[in-house]
Formats: sequence, C-alpha cells, structure tokens
Amino acid sequence: MMPTEATYFGVPGTLLFALVLFGSIAAFAYTASRRWQLLTIGGPPDVRWDKPLERLRGLLELGIFQKKMWWDGYAGLYHMLIFSGFVVLSVRTLSLVLEGLFPKAGMPFLPTGAWQAYLLLKDVVLVTTFAGVLLALGRRYVFRRERLDPSFDAGFILCLIGFLMATDLLAGAAMFALTPGHASAWEPVTAALSTLMSGTAPGTLETIYFSCWWLHLIAVFGFLNYLPFAKHFHVLTALPNIFLRKLDAPGRLSMVDIEKAAEAEKFGVAKVEDFTWKQRLDMFTCTECGRCREVCPTHLTGKPLTPKGFMKDVRSALYSVAGDLVDVASARGDAAAGKRLEERKPLIGGWVEEETIWACTTCRYCESACPVGITYTDKIVDMRRHLVLEKSEFPKEAQTAFNGMERQGNPWNLPASDRDAWTAELDFEIPVLGAMDESERAQVEVLFWVGCAGSYEDRGKKVSRALAKLLHEGGVRFAILGSEETCNGDSARRLGNEYLFQTLAQQNVETLNGYGVKKIVTNCPHCFNTLKSEYPDFGGSFEVMHGTELVARLLAEGRVKLTQALPKTISFHDACYLGRHNDVYDAPRNVLDAIPGLTLTELPRSGRNGLCCGAGGGRMWLDEKIGTRINQARYAEIEEAGTDLVGVSCPFCMVMLGNAQTEMEGKTQPFDVLELAAAALPAHPGPVAG
Ligand code: SF4
Ligand code: SF4
Repeated sequence: MMPTEATYFGVPGTLLFALVLFGSIAAFAYTASRRWQLLTIGGPPDVRWDKPLERLRGLLELGIFQKKMWWDGYAGLYHMLIFSGFVVLSVRTLSLVLEGLFPKAGMPFLPTGAWQAYLLLKDVVLVTTFAGVLLALGRRYVFRRERLDPSFDAGFILCLIGFLMATDLLAGAAMFALTPGHASAWEPVTAALSTLMSGTAPGTLETIYFSCWWLHLIAVFGFLNYLPFAKHFHVLTALPNIFLRKLDAPGRLSMVDIEKAAEAEKFGVAKVEDFTWKQRLDMFTCTECGRCREVCPTHLTGKPLTPKGFMKDVRSALYSVAGDLVDVASARGDAAAGKRLEERKPLIGGWVEEETIWACTTCRYCESACPVGITYTDKIVDMRRHLVLEKSEFPKEAQTAFNGMERQGNPWNLPASDRDAWTAELDFEIPVLGAMDESERAQVEVLFWVGCAGSYEDRGKKVSRALAKLLHEGGVRFAILGSEETCNGDSARRLGNEYLFQTLAQQNVETLNGYGVKKIVTNCPHCFNTLKSEYPDFGGSFEVMHGTELVARLLAEGRVKLTQALPKTISFHDACYLGRHNDVYDAPRNVLDAIPGLTLTELPRSGRNGLCCGAGGGRMWLDEKIGTRINQARYAEIEEAGTDLVGVSCPFCMVMLGNAQTEMEGKTQPFDVLELAAAALPAHPGPVAG
C-alpha cells in the first residue's frame, strides 16, 4: 500500500501529498523567479551564448566529469560520488512523486528491463552516495584542508543528503519486509537490509515505511527550497555557470564605451547592480570550496584579499538588498525600498575594503583553480575603474606611473626620444619602421615590439639586445618603431585607468596599422597579452608572438644554433601573463633545453600552478606594505629548489625576483631565458651567467 492511499486526520493521502508537492513547487518557483529577476536587474550587456559546441565540450569536461575536482583526488572522489547520486536519484525522486500522485498506477513507468537495470544502479548509488557524504564530512571535520572553513551550512546539507539516502533505503527495506516475496534481486542492498527487519512487527514496519517515505520526500522538497538561500545554490547554477563561462582570451578585459560612460557619469562598478548578469551568476555559484584562496599569492602572503572572501562579500552585498533591488527594478517597490537601497552599506569601503581591491595582482591563479568557472580579475578591475575614473581614488604611487604613461609614453617617465637608446650597444643596426621607405618596409618580416621595460629598464635593455641578437643570427628581417612606440597601456588598464589605456591603445593601433604591421614579436608578456588579445577591440589584429616562441621556432628550424655550454642548473619561473593568461608554457622551456649543459629542474609550483612575482595588475608600480612581499615569498620557493639560476621570460618578473634576491641576499640568480640563449650563440664571447 502506498502512503498516499492512507488518510491523515481525515485528509486523503493523495490530496495531502499533492498539497505538499505543489506548495513546495510554488514556493520554489517564487524564489527562483526572484533570483532570476536579481540576475537580470541590469548591468552592462554580456553575450555568453556564442560557440555552443565549445561551451558544451567544457560543460562535459568541467561540469559532468568535474575535471578540476580531480586535481585533488580525495575531493574529486567524493564529489563524483555525490554528484552521480544526484543524477541517478533524481529519477528515483520522480518515481516516488509519481507513486505519491498515482498510487494505483503501479510501477514501473519504464520498460521492465530498463527499470530493473535502473533499480540495480539506484541501489548501488544509494550506498556510494552515502559513502561520498561520509568522505566529505571527513574532509570537513577530520582531515580538514585550510581552504575549507567550518560552516553550519555545509555540514547541514551533507547530513541532509545522507538523510535522503538513509530514508530511501529504509522505506524500501521496510516495504520488502512487509511483503515477503516482493524483495527483488535487482535491489540487493535494500533486500539485504530488509532481512535485518524480518522479525519486526508489521505495524512497526508500516510506521517505518510511511515515515521514511514522507520524510524522504519532505526532505527533498525542503532541500529544493533551501538551495537558493545557501551556498548550495551551486547545485542548480554550477552547470549553467560553466556552460556560460568566459571563452575569449582569459587575459582580455571587457571594453568600456568611454563616451557613453562619460555621458552617464558612471564608470565601472560601485554597486552590485553595476555588475553584469554573468558576474552575479558567479556570485550565486560560489561553492565556498576555497580552492581560489589556497593558491592566491595575496592570501599566502598575509594580505586582506582572498578571492573566496571577496566572492562571499560581494554575494552578501547582493543578497542583503536582493528583495529591494528586485522590487524597485520591477516597479513593485515603494519609496521605502528605494530609500533602503540609498542607505545600504556601500559595496566599496563597506562590504569590500579598498585595500582588498588594490591588492590583486590579476595573476588568475584563483580563476584557473576554480572548479565552477568563476572569474575575479574582471570584477576587481571593474571596481578599480569606478575608483579611478569616477572618484579619483587610487594609491598615490599609481599617479607617477599614470603621469609617465600620459606624458612620455612610459611609466618610468623617461624621455620618449630615448626609447631606442638600447640599440646603441649592438654591433648591427636595427631599422626603424618610420625611417624606411615603402619597399623596405615590405621586406620586414616581423616588428620587434620592445616595450617600456625593454627600452628603459637596465636589465630589460640587455634582454632586448639578446632577442635582437637571436633574431639577427636567425636571419629574421625585423624592425622596431623606435620613438613611435609607446606604452601598451596594460598597467593603466589593470589599475582601472581605462581612459588612459584606450588613449594609448588607439595611438599604438593607429601607428601599427599605418605601417601595415601584420606580425609582432615582443619579450614582455604584458605587451604580448595586450597586443594579442585586447588590441583587436581597437581595430588592431596582429599575429603576436612572445620572444621565446619565435626563438624556439628558429631553434627548431635550425636557423639558430646554440653551441656554447652553460654547465649550470636552472629552475624556471612562469610569468602569469604568458602562462595562465595565454597558455604559453613550452616555448621558454624549449629554449632552455636547447642550451648545452643547462639542466632544468621544475619548481614545485610551476606551469599553470606558477606563483606570481607580485608585479601584475599594475602592482609593479604600487608599494606593498601588508604582509610578506610576494616577490620574496616566490623567491624563497626558488631558493628552496637549490639551482644555480632561475629563468624568467618577463621583464617585470626579472625586476621583482632581482629585487628579492638583493633583499634576501639569495644565491639563485635570475636570468631571462633569451639572455642565456644569446650567451650560448657561437659568436658570443662567453657565458653571461658565470
Ligand atoms: S588574480 Fe591572483 S592575486 Fe588576484 S585574487 Fe586571484 S589569485 Fe589572488
Ligand atoms: S570562487 Fe570558485 S574556487 Fe573560490 S571558493 Fe568559490 S567556487 Fe571555490
């Protein structure tokens, strides 16, 4: 007999069940519609339904097979067990609902063979999900990782999932015990449990069955209605969030329509409703797993920014005014709702401290660690845009860099006319595009974009000469822009000065297009990222290579040979804007491999797990006053590796690690990969790294 065939206080069970079911669905539909409205209350447009096949592939890889979860095998295992439980048992829940509504319809509602296979799977999954819950509880309360904070919510939901499994099993077992001969070979676990109940009085079995059946379904409905209010909302939003993830270059920031923004006198994000809908979906989706926090260099060095904390804070800011925002946006709100919104705790300086916003190096370690496709650097930069462009509030050191970029086209504020002074020490001439005639320009294969550090910073100038020598040796016909080159604007953009960035970008694109430039090589990953991924928004579409990519190609083609031995050991520090932002990991290693006698030892944190040097996101120009300096933390890891040298492929990393070496009196000397390669050229007088 189905529980809904009974009557309860005179109310037929079917009617009571229908009331509970439709009441729960109605309550959930109401909450979900409010959440949907909260998602779509405004903010800049953000199109995320292009490239459906690529989105689907990512959904399978990251969402269904949970690729990133397996980076931590223990967590991967219990997530997979619980996730598969949800999938399999949703069919079970549907069958129980149908049973409740149509008790006389009988089962199964699938063809017999399929239903039997399903019952077997369901029985196994009931146990594996329960095991997954125990493993998850073990991770939270017994072998807890630092990234997981004690949380009532997490423990409660895990216990609720365990409760669902237990009630389902018990109801099934009691039913088998009540109806001997009914036990099915397709439900071996339930049948085995029912044998333990064999001596139990029928009345007790009925009570177990009825209570477990009702409790199971009420818990399902309660769970559904609790989800939108808890971090477990990700159960519903994670898959859509992964499907709608950012697909363009990871290092590309969104464009701001400066004219429109100036007209509206509104730049960046000051309030939660200024975020895009996708940024709000990120907030709904954060699982609070802390994978982002455990790798964030600012958290590791004791600064106030932790990406998980940031995500929780912006979500709290959103949820604290959710009702008023939805009411006002849908014109249902009264004056009081509007007043409450005006008087709310501010997002910047209230929910999120300004120090937190300025601490980020935009290294994207957090984004690459996040299993549900959440991004942070876009949100941080949007908030910086508001501070810089609307409030003129930013760390005072940034002003010097802004002035330099604005007046001289470089953050060091050195004369623009000295930009090609680094070429003077070369024993060959590098042609300057502007000084060539049309036919000479047509012969140029690639433009060497030198960058500000490569033009003005002492060590950077040496690296520029090294790359020039390697290109010269390989017979590459290249030229430079000389004093017509100006800062690419990366630091300005990441520090929130979008206006200055766009001015520089437009000027550079105009120059490059004016000379018909098609191919560019640069040794600065920040220039590389901006020219490659951000200049297309300004009409500049170029094939951009990092110096190590072109040199690796010249080596592979035999156009450059490295013959001078360098009998040293070396580790390699990955630059965030080359690696995580642009997926270039092999080229610098291939160049190092080609140097005779050099032995590469990988650092424990390398490749996609490389730790930032602390200079990205414009932090190169800001003081670092809180906690350990990031460059020193990274340099300590490098020293630990015990190699003679550390290779870099970014002028900012070179400065940061060089400073750390001096400050810490370290032994490991940083060298640019290309400096070492140039030193190994046959014509070179001797190794530089002695
Ligand atoms: S981008 Fe880097 S510094 Fe910024 S929050 Fe993420 S991990 Fe931390
Ligand atoms: S943002 Fe992503 S990695 Fe960070 S806590 Fe949330 S889900 Fe985990």
